[in-house]
Amino acid sequence: MHAFRIGKLLGLEIRIDWSWVFIFVLLTWNLSSIFSRWHPDWSPAETFSVALVASLLFFGCILLHELAHSLVARRHGLRVRSITLFLFGGISNIEHEPPSARAEFFIAIVGPITSILLGVGFLAASLVTAGVSLAHADTALNGYARLGPLETLLAWLGPINLTIGAFNLIPAFPLDGGRVLRSILWGIGDDLRTSTRRVSAVGQMFGWLLIVTGSR
Ligand SMILES: [Zn+2]
Repeated sequence: MHAFRIGKLLGLEIRIDWSWVFIFVLLTWNLSSIFSRWHPDWSPAETFSVALVASLLFFGCILLHELAHSLVARRHGLRVRSITLFLFGGISNIEHEPPSARAEFFIAIVGPITSILLGVGFLAASLVTAGVSLAHADTALNGYARLGPLETLLAWLGPINLTIGAFNLIPAFPLDGGRVLRSILWGIGDDLRTSTRRVSAVGQMFGWLLIVTGSR
């Protein structure tokens, strides 16, 4: 992987893959256009600054999600070398398979839980800070227009973290939900290899389901 190191956090090396730079630019660009629709009265510089901060905070949230996996893995005695942020999010470079079904369950589930808690936290904060301005709005877009920069950030970060949490719970590899399901199958009696095979089958089923529902 073409990754470069940006620093160390809690003894873990934090790295960024080059693909991440691409997605960072794309996200900031995309958010600039969303926020300019929400806030026609903002200057381009203002819109761009808020979009840039939103992208940075978004990747901060992904990093927290990965940190949660890594820290729980370390608690279970696994060595974690580094965390790499790449195109589709993050990856914790954990050495070896988890020692038990229980360990795998907690290592996997703590990521989505972290994202969901972040989402609920940001949403609650946005309701508290923006509640007054939203109460006076007659349409949703009008409501967004009344949000200040901080409230705009919170209103975007809440739902996006909830989405990341929920998406990662889909029981298919390489998503966290796939590992959660494997740990449950492993825990109720299957060996690791059979559990892996069964989860792969479930994942394929989900893939087909997406194709079938998407093609309608
Ligand atoms: Zn995860």
